[in-house]
Amino acid sequence: MLEGRMKTSVRAETGELALLREIRRRARSGAARAPGVVLGIGDDCALLRPRPGEEIAVTTDLSIDGRHFRLASHPPEAIGHRVLACGLSDLAAMGARPLAAFVSMGLPAALASPSRGRPAWVGRFYDGLFALARQFRTPLAGGDLAESPVALADIVLVGAVPKRKALRRSGARPDDGIYVTGALGGSAAGLALLDRMVGSRLPARLPGPLQVHLFPQPRIVQGQRLRQRGLATAAIDISDGLSTDLAHLCEESSLSAEIDAGVIPVARGATLDQALHGGEDYELLFTAPAAARVPRAIAGVPVTRVGRMLRRRAGRPQIALLTANGVQPLETRGWQHFA
Ligand SMILES: [Mg+2]
Repeated sequence: MLEGRMKTSVRAETGELALLREIRRRARSGAARAPGVVLGIGDDCALLRPRPGEEIAVTTDLSIDGRHFRLASHPPEAIGHRVLACGLSDLAAMGARPLAAFVSMGLPAALASPSRGRPAWVGRFYDGLFALARQFRTPLAGGDLAESPVALADIVLVGAVPKRKALRRSGARPDDGIYVTGALGGSAAGLALLDRMVGSRLPARLPGPLQVHLFPQPRIVQGQRLRQRGLATAAIDISDGLSTDLAHLCEESSLSAEIDAGVIPVARGATLDQALHGGEDYELLFTAPAAARVPRAIAGVPVTRVGRMLRRRAGRPQIALLTANGVQPLETRGWQHFA
């Protein structure tokens, strides 16, 4: 695992092989301390061991240059961070704990070698990935690296969750309250900011929206607390935007929803539109019975009630948005990656 298949010139080879060795070394030292990893990088397969009574949660996400990130404007550390954050966020939405990550990459050869005295792009990608992996104790237990005309990274996250306790999209009931963690729209505002900054150096201290866009925080702890306290009837992570992800939850629960525009927690620097439709905030959206005592914050992250679930009824929109000017259907206008 973590084999390299970069075609290289003899001259560049030592640098790339050294790089691969370094990635493997860093991955192994993380995996060696992880109780869920019996065998990490180095054999044909990794061996993972969940605790007795647990089920395995698996999620996969593909990120492609020009679709999900942009080599021209995203720092490599941020791309590595975001690739892992995206997978961790899916585990968070199920209330799972991370067991291990697997990353396969396709890279143009130039990104694998140091250039103009700077470390190789791929090394900086792994710097970002390993920093977040350490934070959430998620060992890298395998992967692959191959030469490709387009830069892309595919991540697989494996998690564990007690049997039959995973949070699903399908459990919401009529009258359940709808809640979100954190603030919404920050990532979309950050991307807009990044677009305006193309060509200029990023400041050392990133403005809030840029920090959220480049280094989003998956809500792993919050997802596990929700599951442990038995508070949530359904949950999903907001990767494609509130309007799109709430529609997924409505679909899976066979319900409609109404949300109140006046109480949506809009991130500083973002617009209501970005909060409703911008993606990649990686906050959690969950439902809980009307009588449930949902805390105002979970592990330091605010929780806001934004609406309620309703029975489906002829003529009722899937999602109704309550505004000062009355009720309007909320169209599903989630994040279309760079469309
Ligand atoms: Mg998801």
